[in-house]
Amino acid sequence: MREALIRPAAISHNVGVLAEMAKTPNLLIVVKADGYGHGALTAARAALEGGANWLGTADTSEALELRAGGIDSRVLAWLFGPTEDLSPALEAGIDLGVSSLTQLDQVIRAVTPGRPARIHLKVDTGLGRSGADPREWEALFQAAKSAQDSGVVVVVGLFTHLSGTSPEADAKQGLVYEDALAVLDSVGLQPEIRHVTSSIGTSDSPALAHDMVRVGAAAYGVPVTPRYHEVGLIPAMRVSGQLILVKRVQEGLGVGYGHTYRTSSETTLALVPLGYADGIPRHASNTGPVTIEGQRFHVSGRISMDQFTVDVGDSAVHEGQWAVLWGDPAHGEPSANEWAEAAGTIAYEIVTRLGSRIPRVVA
Ligand SMILES: *Cc1c(COP(=O)(O)O)cnc(C)c1O
Repeated sequence: MREALIRPAAISHNVGVLAEMAKTPNLLIVVKADGYGHGALTAARAALEGGANWLGTADTSEALELRAGGIDSRVLAWLFGPTEDLSPALEAGIDLGVSSLTQLDQVIRAVTPGRPARIHLKVDTGLGRSGADPREWEALFQAAKSAQDSGVVVVVGLFTHLSGTSPEADAKQGLVYEDALAVLDSVGLQPEIRHVTSSIGTSDSPALAHDMVRVGAAAYGVPVTPRYHEVGLIPAMRVSGQLILVKRVQEGLGVGYGHTYRTSSETTLALVPLGYADGIPRHASNTGPVTIEGQRFHVSGRISMDQFTVDVGDSAVHEGQWAVLWGDPAHGEPSANEWAEAAGTIAYEIVTRLGSRIPRVVA
């Protein structure tokens, strides 16, 4: 009665589009947060099929899950706890993002002699999140250089993350990144892979692509900038629920908790078995769009934990039909972006928060 249809072929297609767009020698597809809700292994395999040669995760455990699933491509993980033992990740050949001297020490402590850790130094060029502050670069880079000289690490990359505020703000961060490269060069390190942009920057600031782009959202067919609407991305997720109850009701009936919706005439209500426990945002109450057999309606009343109601008027819908919440707008289905707008959030949150109660059907 609930389904999230995941289309690996769409991910592969999108990755091909991204490879064409970025024209970088390396392409990293981000599969953190269970592949943005699509299933990490499904997404990883489809991304490699589509031409990616790197995968990225936040947590090291996510990277290890890829290895356990038989993925042997390069994998970069950039988030780990301060007391985490990094040796399993290093033994599995995972590259690690390093934002500070403390993190560098943590990596060095986990190294097995004879098997240097592959690291990507991360610099904060203006996002104000992870990455080393410019005042720490020299000390961090020097420590990384001496660790490389003694054979415990290999500095593979230098990376940063953009704020996505505007192309002007990106360009400013790009200049700060150039400064970081110069400082790195001054201590005698020339990284093989310089990487800066994610989905937004890859489309709107292509000059910052360098040797690799790290793309998540766009690979799943979520058009996060207007330009992505023009390149033919295909949404890789379609979420739907089967109408479990359809009933005729009278005018003036209050619908759902708090009676935030009231029927304006005799009408038909259809019940969809998806709620906020499934990741359907309660903030989209009374606004979230659905299509039933190609006809468009919206949520009527509050979205509750397990279900919501749709006033379908006099349309002849019946139990057993499917309501599509988000899928492919090219097929007349609402998009994850529309749900994001309805809920006052971004499509990233819509796809990644999909609950575990919805079976993923890979086809
Ligand atoms: C999540 C993430 C990305 C991917 O971002 P998208 O906007 O989904 O393309 C890239 N780099 C880093 C460091 C991230 O945390």
